[in-house]
Amino acid sequence: MDISDRQQNLLRRLPGVDLLITLAQEESDLRTIPKSVIVRSIREILDAWRQRILEQPDLDDRQLAHDHLLRQVTERAGSLQAFNLQRTINATGVVIHTNLGRSCLAQAAIDHVAAIAGRYSNLEFDLARGQRGSRYSIVEALLCELSGAEAALAVNNNAGAVLLCLDTLAHGKKVILSRGEMVEIGGSFRIPDVMAKSGAILKEVGTTNRTHPRDYAQAIDADTGLLLKVHTSNYSIVGFTAAVALTDMVELGRQHDLPVMEDLGSGNFVDLTQYGLSAEPTVQASVAAGVDVVTFSGDKLLGGPQAGIIVGRRALLERIKANPLTRALRIDKLTLAALEATLRLYRDETDAIAKIPTLRMLFAQRPEIEVRARRLAQGLRDLADKRISAELCDLPSRAGGGSLPLMALPSCCVGVRIAGLSPNRVEKELRTFRPPIIGRIENGLFIMDPRTIAEDEIEIIVQAFGNLLKTYIPAD
Ligand SMILES: *Cc1c(COP(=O)(O)O)cnc(C)c1O
Repeated sequence: MDISDRQQNLLRRLPGVDLLITLAQEESDLRTIPKSVIVRSIREILDAWRQRILEQPDLDDRQLAHDHLLRQVTERAGSLQAFNLQRTINATGVVIHTNLGRSCLAQAAIDHVAAIAGRYSNLEFDLARGQRGSRYSIVEALLCELSGAEAALAVNNNAGAVLLCLDTLAHGKKVILSRGEMVEIGGSFRIPDVMAKSGAILKEVGTTNRTHPRDYAQAIDADTGLLLKVHTSNYSIVGFTAAVALTDMVELGRQHDLPVMEDLGSGNFVDLTQYGLSAEPTVQASVAAGVDVVTFSGDKLLGGPQAGIIVGRRALLERIKANPLTRALRIDKLTLAALEATLRLYRDETDAIAKIPTLRMLFAQRPEIEVRARRLAQGLRDLADKRISAELCDLPSRAGGGSLPLMALPSCCVGVRIAGLSPNRVEKELRTFRPPIIGRIENGLFIMDPRTIAEDEIEIIVQAFGNLLKTYIPAD
């Protein structure tokens, strides 16, 4: 590659790393940043300039002034020091948003995590006996009390719980499952794949839309180890359909001396129909129907931390606990702290609904959401900038997290338009704000749904728009 004299000069004008390090030592904004980060930032900035000089021979040399380079170094070092995992504002209206961390913990859970995190605890110490205990005992009694089951176990997540149960109960044996329940959820969890990993052999019965008790009965043979029901949590088969009732499956299991397992996916303890939502099976109902092992997530409708919960018959749970896989899937103490505090709230349903954010947001009624929508729209109008307009729109929210897939929750959203800025650009600018604000685009408007926006986040959103209007200069 030919390098012009001008380019040679520009390259020579770039300061050395050592000089910039010396200059950086005088920058107050860099004082608290580790030297390794500063050096890395300097190298990156200088490399980028070298590249630009080679690509752009007519580059304005004022950009290479030391104070300009130092500003860039400071900015780069700041962004290297910022957390990768950041608090984010969910303006999507999807309550259990897997990409945004699913459930927000209740204050009681946050407090208990904070109390346990920095101290020793009796995680695996039996205080009554003064000897080694089991971390699994911490939430077992509570889970039994809430579900009516004989025994319980919490592991890392529900995918792990399903894998563990299948491996324990049906390794090398056939597991009978309806074709209508061959579920795939996001993030590559597919029932047939998990089944294969567990060493169980999938035996599909029935058809996509209809499966009858006789389909199960005919499939049972000497190699059968388990009857499985999977809650079709993220889709629904409608029209000419038939699924086998849980009670029929339980009876079939009893007749053939086979355990029945149900993966509820988004398990919950509260009957949602009381609060105007469509029905989702409760954990108690499955246990009461006689299902031997029930699995569900901790951070979907339950509104707790990521966890996989297994409840069911003592004899089966004993085998599951003894499986070496359990150790590989074990739950962490911070998760246990959050889970115990969340479960305790369920002892009083009114308490649970008032204090668990996932439930509070799901059950929020339109008038309450509209109040927040109006406050947000007013805040944006108070920016007193003719370029921005905000209107209320009747668009629904979603439960998300593979629960209530067909249910549109009536909501009141705020749609924003900024003259001269495309909705895509608005979406991107808000997404890259700190904290990031995630909304969606519909009908040419940037839409924010206050169902999932906390009271104290309205001000931050208004600030972000204020910032955007200030920094955005029309292209021509
Ligand atoms: C979500 C879900 C899972 C996986 O649960 P995670 O807690 O995400 O591991 C398994 N089965 C069903 C039916 C689900 O909906």
